[in-house]
Amino acid sequence: MSDYKLGKAYALEQDKNDPLADFRQQFHLPKDANGNPLIYFTGNSLGLQPKLTKSYIEEELNDWANLGVEGHTEGEHPWLHYHEFLTQSMADIVGAKPIEVVIMNTLTTNLHLMMVSFYKPTEKRYKILIEADAFPSDKYAVESQLRHHGYDDKDGLILWKPNPETDLTHYDELERLMEQHGDEIALIMIGGVNYYTGQFFDLKRITELGHSYGCKVGFDCAHGAGNVKLDLHNSGADFAIWCTYKYLNSGPGSLSGVFVHERHAHDKTLNRFTGWWSHNKQTRFKMRDEFDQLPGAEGWQLSNPPILSMCAIRASLDVFAEAGMDNLIEKSRKLTGYFEYLINELNNDHIRIITPSNAKERGCQLSIQVRSADKALHQKLTEAGIITDWREPDVIRCAPVPLYNSFEDVFEFVERLKPILAFPKGRND
Ligand SMILES: *Cc1c(COP(=O)(O)O)cnc(C)c1O
Repeated sequence: MSDYKLGKAYALEQDKNDPLADFRQQFHLPKDANGNPLIYFTGNSLGLQPKLTKSYIEEELNDWANLGVEGHTEGEHPWLHYHEFLTQSMADIVGAKPIEVVIMNTLTTNLHLMMVSFYKPTEKRYKILIEADAFPSDKYAVESQLRHHGYDDKDGLILWKPNPETDLTHYDELERLMEQHGDEIALIMIGGVNYYTGQFFDLKRITELGHSYGCKVGFDCAHGAGNVKLDLHNSGADFAIWCTYKYLNSGPGSLSGVFVHERHAHDKTLNRFTGWWSHNKQTRFKMRDEFDQLPGAEGWQLSNPPILSMCAIRASLDVFAEAGMDNLIEKSRKLTGYFEYLINELNNDHIRIITPSNAKERGCQLSIQVRSADKALHQKLTEAGIITDWREPDVIRCAPVPLYNSFEDVFEFVERLKPILAFPKGRND
């Protein structure tokens, strides 16, 4: 930590010595009206486009043009198996076995499909525990599952509340909730990395706690996949889901990844919704057979998948495989540590970093609270060529992404922030 230094020369030196620095060239960086690249710190919201993506999509457009339906079996990357080309590299990113991973549908849809299987309420055990500041879509999905099963969505929801002083969620509070309600809870569903604070939870610890009370445990890893070491298999979680358009750079609204732990791979007694893509691959096209469940996470697929969206995922995963998740995490820790150092060196009483300072409890995102600021601050940052994400009432979420952000980006960000902080409100203009 104390190795960091002030001044631009230090940032440039770090970029020069960064073994991943060239990956920046593999992405399209958004530019301002004068053609200068913007400082893009919103890879946590929508990752940038790899230059490879266009050619991968063009390949499939060409196969479709030239082969028509035959592209399902005759193309260079036959569509029938296309999702399988993504499995190994996605499994590597999230720390899972190939049988535990599939890419299908979109995130919230998959959360519902997972709850069909892993939220099995009984008269006594029907509640769902989530973080109080969960991503709204997750909260809405969970509440609607409660209603769908005939429960009250207030009574049925147990909220793991953050500590009002730190804004972070603490494990002793979770342990207290479990002691009090453990035998009423059917499912624990937590965002693996909280979208607002950037706090990365100990998935294994939460899973073991949940399982010790007989609950099922699942994680939404939308802010974790491609950002932190999730180690999903070893966490023991029953399921996880994530989208691929944030850190995984696969384009707006792109498909979602699903993890179902190996111990459920061959369980035919689990309740599920099924379609022809959940059926045994060998006999799928005979069309007349009795349903025969495909083992593993693939068995949760319903439809034949949208290939053009999968191309973008394949392009992104190829970039990740080349960079290596461990290398990315190593750079991420340095880059975000440097960012934190520069922010702290501002010695500005109005600023507080909400995100945990322990590198093991966060990914690349820092959520910075600027007390007394309003949305004018965000507007000024945008005018200064910085793209961040504003959350009411006074938090900017900033994610220097190790694949395409540089130490110079971080340095420039803080330099441009300084004059803005002097007058954080619009009315001081
Ligand atoms: C981004 C995000 C979503 C968005 O869900 P979609 O179904 O892809 O629109 C949901 N949950 C979390 C935690 C997210 O970070």
